[in-house]
Amino acid sequence: MRILIAGFQHETNTFAPSKTDYDDFVRGGAFPAMVRGADVLAMRDVNIPIGGFIRAMEGPRTELVPAIWAGATPAAHVTREAFERIAAEIVDAARGKDFDGVYLDLHGAMVCEHDDDGEGALLAALRAVVGPRVPIVASLDLHANVTRRMLESADALVAYRTYPHEDMAEAGERAAGLLKRLLTRGTRYHRAARRLPFLIPINGMCTMVEPARGTYGALARAESAQGVALSFAPGFPAADFPECGGVVWGYGDDARIEGVVADLTDNIVSREAQWVVPFLEPEEAVRQAQAIAARATKPVVIADTQDNPGGGGDSNTTGMLRALVKCEAQGAAIGLMVDGAAARAAHEAGAGHDITIALGGQSGVDGDAPFHATFRVEQLSDGYCRYDGPMMNGKETHAGPSARLSLGGVQIVVSTYKDQMLDRNLYRMAGVQPEEMKILVNKSSVHFRADFQPIAEAILVAKAPGPLRADPADFPWTRLAPGMRLRPLGPVFKTP
Ligand SMILES: [Zn+2]
Repeated sequence: MRILIAGFQHETNTFAPSKTDYDDFVRGGAFPAMVRGADVLAMRDVNIPIGGFIRAMEGPRTELVPAIWAGATPAAHVTREAFERIAAEIVDAARGKDFDGVYLDLHGAMVCEHDDDGEGALLAALRAVVGPRVPIVASLDLHANVTRRMLESADALVAYRTYPHEDMAEAGERAAGLLKRLLTRGTRYHRAARRLPFLIPINGMCTMVEPARGTYGALARAESAQGVALSFAPGFPAADFPECGGVVWGYGDDARIEGVVADLTDNIVSREAQWVVPFLEPEEAVRQAQAIAARATKPVVIADTQDNPGGGGDSNTTGMLRALVKCEAQGAAIGLMVDGAAARAAHEAGAGHDITIALGGQSGVDGDAPFHATFRVEQLSDGYCRYDGPMMNGKETHAGPSARLSLGGVQIVVSTYKDQMLDRNLYRMAGVQPEEMKILVNKSSVHFRADFQPIAEAILVAKAPGPLRADPADFPWTRLAPGMRLRPLGPVFKTP
């Protein structure tokens, strides 16, 4: 068996300030850097889908032929040039060759400058080249906005079931299982899909808590009881196009899959009120954290969710820093604040010196501004660290020249490049011991929970001004599907 494998991952926030170009894919950022050929196979031990797929397919009778693997940090639209160059490498690798199957490691929420549905465009182009008989299977992120064209162009799509995404490699393994069955039985699956009538806030999708935890439990039970393959992607509610939102879908041997998918969808929709997320204003969040921390031995973690670089933020908004300073928080730390100029100023001044700068606030987000103050440079860092937490364990990251600044009782970890605060080592690299702090403000929505929930007294979610609106009803939507509710039990989308 000769299987073509490739990866192309992007989560597009169409409301974010910066587009995603080819160089962003070369560098990777939140993902490994772009690789080709044998270097793709070398990712077998990384906890990403293609790693799990490679391990699951290895054997004497299978040859995996790698094309390219490319992923970029979430931001606004993928440029047409970047999409066409990377998609062409994948499609050209398939052209004229006699592959028995194709596996793609995709995200599912890519929006391009010229096409709302990047993955659908890629899958359709690939289908046109390999023909109807060669099975195409892809794994998707839990935040995929699954489209009709994606479903119709692939023989099977399978999504992650955890958020934080601890099962990325497992999703690759599940894709391998579906592909093996397609290759051995030679017939296609029956497919069913249902769309949710409301958008779900990102923070409400965390599978460590209800209702998402129970939903994925029900999914797994239905799957084993019925002998089918099921997926639920609650979507990425920051992509302004008609197929944004959650989808339940599945594959089975016969039309009974329709009923299984309908039942799971009803289970989710009937509990609409449980998907509502309580959000706090910045000062409200800090005051609550201070009250809890006064009687706690562990830190209170506040998610600065609207500036999450994993959702398209630039990680430089200052609303939470302002609230910490205004409320005179003690033993507090915030990170990562991405500001290359501030990091440079800190390195030029050196540890132990003061710098007077305008920190962050450069992205022009409504209600946000640079924070002018004199900060003490406490410690410098080269920005290299290795993740020891459960998310992307073992990943080596380079946040560029970094520094720990302080202002009153607040420590600020400033970096040059974006990295989501999902691993405690991103604090430690600048000398903050997260377990010893009273309050931690993480520029992350949910991924941080994997490494921080075990050390946290409580977790709060704050809504400081930022490009990623935590409440999808706050976005200026123009192109959603008619009738879509903008949040659970929320207002209905109306064409402007
Ligand atoms: Zn995701």
